[in-house]
Amino acid sequence: MLKFWGRGSGFTDNHTSAFFVENNELIMIDCSITAFARIIKNDLSTLNDGEEIKRIIIAVTHTHSDHVSGIPLLIHYAFYLLHLPVTVVAPSKEVLEDLNYFISHMDGCDPRGYEVVLAGDGDFTWLKEVIPTSHAPELEGRCFGYCLEVEGKRVVYTGDTNRIEDFIPYLTEECYFFTECSLHISPVHTEVHMILKLQDLFDKLNAHVYLMHLDDEEAIKERIAGSKLEFAPLYGI
Ligand SMILES: [Zn+2]
Ligand SMILES: [Zn+2]
Repeated sequence: MLKFWGRGSGFTDNHTSAFFVENNELIMIDCSITAFARIIKNDLSTLNDGEEIKRIIIAVTHTHSDHVSGIPLLIHYAFYLLHLPVTVVAPSKEVLEDLNYFISHMDGCDPRGYEVVLAGDGDFTWLKEVIPTSHAPELEGRCFGYCLEVEGKRVVYTGDTNRIEDFIPYLTEECYFFTECSLHISPVHTEVHMILKLQDLFDKLNAHVYLMHLDDEEAIKERIAGSKLEFAPLYGI
């Protein structure tokens, strides 16, 4: 199941970044600079029962810096030190163009080290659906979540959203739902009480619900006390 290099929001030092390993590939959802700082402390084979990792794949939700700031540096690192190819998965054509500009034009990554592909064009058996959502007005139309299959389980991952209802149709019996959650009232995020209001639905589905992108862990912990909501599981911290 998904593990997390970090589960915090933008103004924390552990930006939300999830990963899992399948077919000797390290698959990440987003990669901030704080995730990069944690990745370089690991021998990647330890994430794969000692087997060598053959490729790094990063599925991007949107281009805020707490989600993509580590991608070019990880590409440089993988190319020069690990000698591993990186595939960046874009959820839409527009995001693909933005990512190419960022990685190629702004950061000058060696084109031999990476490719940027559209989610629908790759052969990713774990990637089931790209889910459009709404988040920041400046990025309207360019924010997404994902429906994945990990270890035979359905995973619904919101990315950053102010419209959690976009993800409800994807929730099924026994699914794993990773949703952003904020304490503070904001037009761009989903407050914890919005998630608590869905508890009956989660119970009906026996859904496993994990909170991520937390702006104030301690205060949110108090708010969810007595519920079945849990925090996203951190790896190696
Ligand atoms: Zn964010
Ligand atoms: Zn964001």
